[in-house]
Amino acid sequence: MQRNAALSDARGWLALFVRQAINTFQSIASEDPSGDKHMDLFGQMMYAPLLLSSLLQQAARHSSKVEIVSRRVEGDIHRYTYRDCHIRAMQLANALTAHGIEAGDRIGTLAWNGYRHMELYYGVSGIGAVCHTINPRLFTEQIAYIINHAQDRFVCFDMSFAPLVEQIAHQCPLVEKWIMLCDERALPETFPVPLLSYETLIGAQPQEFDWPRFDEQRAAVLCYTSGTTGNPKGVLYSHRSLSLMAYGSALPDTLCLSSTDTVAPVVPMFHVNAWGLPFSAPLVGAKLVLPGAKLDGESLWTLFEQEGVTFSAGVPTIWLGLVDYMRRAGKHSTHFKRAIVGGSACPPQLASSLRELGIKAVHAWGMTELSPLGTVCSPSHDYQDKSAEEQKCIDAKQGRVVPGIDLKIVGSGGAELPWDGKSAGDLMARGHWVLDRYYGAGQTALEDGWFSTGDVATIDPDGYMQITDRSKDVIKSGGEWISSIELEHVAMSHPEVESAACIGCEHPKWDERPVLIVVKRAGSTLSAQQLLAYYEGKVARWWIPDDVVFVPEMPLTATGKLQKLVLKQRFGRHLVDAAKPSA
Ligand code: AMP
Repeated sequence: MQRNAALSDARGWLALFVRQAINTFQSIASEDPSGDKHMDLFGQMMYAPLLLSSLLQQAARHSSKVEIVSRRVEGDIHRYTYRDCHIRAMQLANALTAHGIEAGDRIGTLAWNGYRHMELYYGVSGIGAVCHTINPRLFTEQIAYIINHAQDRFVCFDMSFAPLVEQIAHQCPLVEKWIMLCDERALPETFPVPLLSYETLIGAQPQEFDWPRFDEQRAAVLCYTSGTTGNPKGVLYSHRSLSLMAYGSALPDTLCLSSTDTVAPVVPMFHVNAWGLPFSAPLVGAKLVLPGAKLDGESLWTLFEQEGVTFSAGVPTIWLGLVDYMRRAGKHSTHFKRAIVGGSACPPQLASSLRELGIKAVHAWGMTELSPLGTVCSPSHDYQDKSAEEQKCIDAKQGRVVPGIDLKIVGSGGAELPWDGKSAGDLMARGHWVLDRYYGAGQTALEDGWFSTGDVATIDPDGYMQITDRSKDVIKSGGEWISSIELEHVAMSHPEVESAACIGCEHPKWDERPVLIVVKRAGSTLSAQQLLAYYEGKVARWWIPDDVVFVPEMPLTATGKLQKLVLKQRFGRHLVDAAKPSA
């Protein structure tokens, strides 16, 4: 008995001792060096804010000899290295500082993809100012509107945009300097406003600059939406959001970029950061090829062959032009193996045409408000086990999320819909590079922490998202939804169709019925009846459009997308006016 009591006593002492030891250890560990106790426990790793300047600095130090090659608007090819780019970005930073540009000031750019635009991306954001990339394809009133709305202090523009600047300069009284991206000799003799040459601006500046360290949440780049309705809205990206997107987009299941790649962003640097490639290419040390203003099939193929481009990104129209040229000229591609197709849905016909030419089309989805990368269609772990038919269906989808982004689909009333690949609902996004509020807006654009993309989509059990429509383009026939994108894909697969848009037209019985608007290939004699008969067996019978209208050309937005609003205004009453019976 006595022995047991002693043992239990000893155990009690031991437990007390251990408890006290743990308490002492915890209080030491949670003690702040300043002496405060009970603080949160922080990691003790080096802190460096995620700043864009560090991406270029990294490339200049660790990929110093890797080239940036640009086709200039002057017509020639310019070639230098990441090291040279960094030096000139530092000269620009010195020049801007000397001219009184301060953190938070906006500097506008009207420029194609080229080395000087790259220097502006980094030199402007590097000093804490904001690089405001302006889409020159917008209407001139919209361009003047966004320059004034952003309160740009300087605007830098390519020589080829001089006529545009001539038109808008007097509508932009806040702009203090118009800087032409050229050397002194190329400046025009007369111009409605004083001009400065970019080369003169930076030429005499020191080649060293100590990039300031500041809060990674500060703004770096400003980009306005294309604004199909109302005025364009500004999306203000932070250093943190763009840096995280650069890391996320380089991953193997995203764009799979490496130092062995030669990357050619065809998507313009004035449209949502050229899908982040000016940041992710230096991050991995890939060679960068900037194609300037010549984006036709022949010019792209020639540049890609000369420079050994392995990877590129652009909208479907660009790839249609390349395919067309390569077929006509009997060309093949030596190194170019991967084309990111985004901005609008990739017609399955385009993917197979590229495949026949040895180029893999990788479908991607995003938007200005997502900086823009949301999903990329890369194979999931069991892709290889699927049948060829299943793989084809997967490849046609917009893909799986880029790590750092989350998606959901919701039905009417906001209830989340199942990921069954069939239920279509409003697509919502959240993540490290998703917009919170528009520039200058007093309140958040989020609903319960999610951004409503305005797209309608399905998500399958493997997480592959597929856009079925823009919510405003869905055709609502007799209370059911018809996907305009799917009907367009069928039309586009017809060999005599150059481009097709499907819109919902007013209908006395069904509210709306689909009508196809089509541009035929040159020399085609295709009739409406023949094209409608082509739909038999490809879609449900009640989805088959009620009519076809042939037009000589399609109205396009500033970013090369179909302007369905214009088509709806023109043809919205087509069925009522023609009093056609529905199918
Ligand atoms: P923007 O902000 O001008 O880049 O336009 C974004 C919109 O383009 C998205 O909300 C989609 O409606 C559309 N979009 C982008 N990528 C795709 C894609 N791969 N497939 C279908 N639509 C797309």
